[in-house]
Amino acid sequence: MRKALVTGAAGFLGSHLCDKLLANDISVIGMDNLITGSMSNIAHLEENPNFRFVHHDVCEFIDIKEELDYILHFASPASPIDYLKIPIQTLKVGALGTHNVLGLARAKNARILVASTSEIYGDPLVHPQTEDYFGNVNTIGPRGVYDEAKRYLESITMAYHRYHAVDTRIIRIFNTYGPRMRLNDGRVIPAFMGQALRGEDLTVFGDGSQTRSFCFVEDEIEGIYRLLLSDYHLPVNIGNPDEISILDFAKEIIKLTGTDQKIVFKPLPKNDPLQRKPDITKAREILGWQPKIRRKEGMQRTYDYFKSLSREELNKMEHRDFSSFKS
Ligand code: UDP
Repeated sequence: MRKALVTGAAGFLGSHLCDKLLANDISVIGMDNLITGSMSNIAHLEENPNFRFVHHDVCEFIDIKEELDYILHFASPASPIDYLKIPIQTLKVGALGTHNVLGLARAKNARILVASTSEIYGDPLVHPQTEDYFGNVNTIGPRGVYDEAKRYLESITMAYHRYHAVDTRIIRIFNTYGPRMRLNDGRVIPAFMGQALRGEDLTVFGDGSQTRSFCFVEDEIEGIYRLLLSDYHLPVNIGNPDEISILDFAKEIIKLTGTDQKIVFKPLPKNDPLQRKPDITKAREILGWQPKIRRKEGMQRTYDYFKSLSREELNKMEHRDFSSFKS
């Protein structure tokens, strides 16, 4: 049986990835330091003989005895609210953590796929974003710790590929949503759905004209899996090009939840990208991939998941503190 190491295995994407690999007869070592991940995301794998969990911080030396076929590096805080709280860890996992997993891939002669992000494009001046766009990032802004960590991740990955001939893949992930997102991670979908469920007003930042393009997790995971099995080394965007403004999105959520919440406007966080939409021509051509799940269906499935959470969990929601984003 082939074997994979998944870092960030207890996170939103990491846990879905573990499921996907296991379903394809690949045994999995799941690694996480549980700073932003949660064991509840992988509780269903506890009895699975092909899954093993290792509680470890990838910024420290990674000691794996077994042979590995694949490494999927998904350990990182991924929400703006998290980068604010733990900026140094965010930088370290993108830099030191990525260095460690690349070293491990080299030692094990394993193929490695690293998770990059649309954030490497910053507040983009090119729309939609193609892989050859170099980006527009404020290095010292509040998002800089994540954006620059992921830009470094891409650079060191290509260096290991070119200098050490490591078999690498780089995915640029655009906004993804679905079950197992952390309700209190501050991102727009859990924020709006949590607010609707608690009977609170929906907080739109700025005038809501900024856009995002949301991909349902099942589609995203299929894209990641196809890239892993491909032989393509340069970065590939995986996301859903179905773009919507945040204000329209808030209205859609009010309709979906059947609640009569109002929309309240809050200041736009500093360096919040004004528009974001992936150009997925490359993914279509190289991987034969494109998203299949429409927003209506994906949002319903996500809402059903949040609705199934206990009242206690729902009330744990932290209010996003955007004050430190402002200057
Ligand atoms: N946003 C909002 N209200 C919220 C949370 C987020 O209007 O309660 C906006 C945020 O300013 C951004 C968009 O929704 O323009 C997506 O934010 P998110 O944190 O989900 O991810 P990002 O794409 O900015 O990394």
